[in-house]
Amino acid sequence: MSPRSAAALGITLSIVAAACGGSSGPLSPTAPETPAAPASASRVLQGQTASAADAASLAGVSVQLGTQQPTTSDANGYFRVETASAGASAIELTGAAVVERRTDVRLPVDGVVKFGLIPASFDLAAFNEMFRGSHERLQRWITAPSLVVLTTVMKFESSEASTAEATSGQIPSADVDAMIRDLTDGLATLTANTYTAFAQVTRESTAPGSRASTARNGQIVVARFRDLRTMTSSVGFGRWAEREDGVITGGAMFLDATYDGTSEKRKLRTHELGHALGYKHVTLRPSIMNPVLGYDVMDFDRQGAAIAFQRPPGNRAPDTDPSSSIHTLSDGGAVRWVSQIP
Ligand SMILES: [Zn+2]
Repeated sequence: MSPRSAAALGITLSIVAAACGGSSGPLSPTAPETPAAPASASRVLQGQTASAADAASLAGVSVQLGTQQPTTSDANGYFRVETASAGASAIELTGAAVVERRTDVRLPVDGVVKFGLIPASFDLAAFNEMFRGSHERLQRWITAPSLVVLTTVMKFESSEASTAEATSGQIPSADVDAMIRDLTDGLATLTANTYTAFAQVTRESTAPGSRASTARNGQIVVARFRDLRTMTSSVGFGRWAEREDGVITGGAMFLDATYDGTSEKRKLRTHELGHALGYKHVTLRPSIMNPVLGYDVMDFDRQGAAIAFQRPPGNRAPDTDPSSSIHTLSDGGAVRWVSQIP
């Protein structure tokens, strides 16, 4: 394009702009008007307040986005807020029937954003024990773990060991299949169906006298141990690896070889799987994670898992997300394995 024709085009556009702007008020020579519809759409948040425990809608929750005037969710939990700012904004949801929630929303956002709130009637103290017991912040897996079943019965040496020596005993393959079924069911239950299957399932046999690692990144290792109960007075142990931001990156389950053959084995497996998922003991009420073995999965456990998996790791009591949760999960600090828990 030659300079001459560019100048001519400029003149033409000025005339068109003046013609359009003439009827709506003074014309700014430097800031061309932008279409009004997309700009205002990006500043509206449409949301719904619901129970994180059972997904029922919750009416009458006060919603404050940034420094805007608070609004209240309607009979079906819906609300609409307009804001002048795009990008991340703090949002606070409060009400007599819910635990006060603080999190961020990033605008613009399409559709209706569901805010799952903890009902005030939910046992938050027991939830804190189970899901925030390590460092007073939520910890959980953020991807489906893989499962490794050591199909050789191992020797129990110490509750701190990260490797184990194989005996000459093998677990019958039908027992391995049943164990994998129990653990897959347990994974779905204890993650509120966030993970309905392990990312991968591996059966691994170890030559007698050789050693196998029980601490592996991204995996949950499960094994039967000879004499675990007689040496420790427990029937099983579990442990996990966690990052500083609360992301769980590894897990291990140690099952007494004899007890894991009894009719109570599914509860033992589910309990130790809970530890491998990063959960601690619940002492305040009946729970699969109660240290007294015998309780099955309770409504509390299912609802607690549903609440936990609607929040990012690092969420703190009463219900506050880490302020930069959108950005920090890929750089969560050093990984450390915790001690085994019975
Ligand atoms: Zn335990």
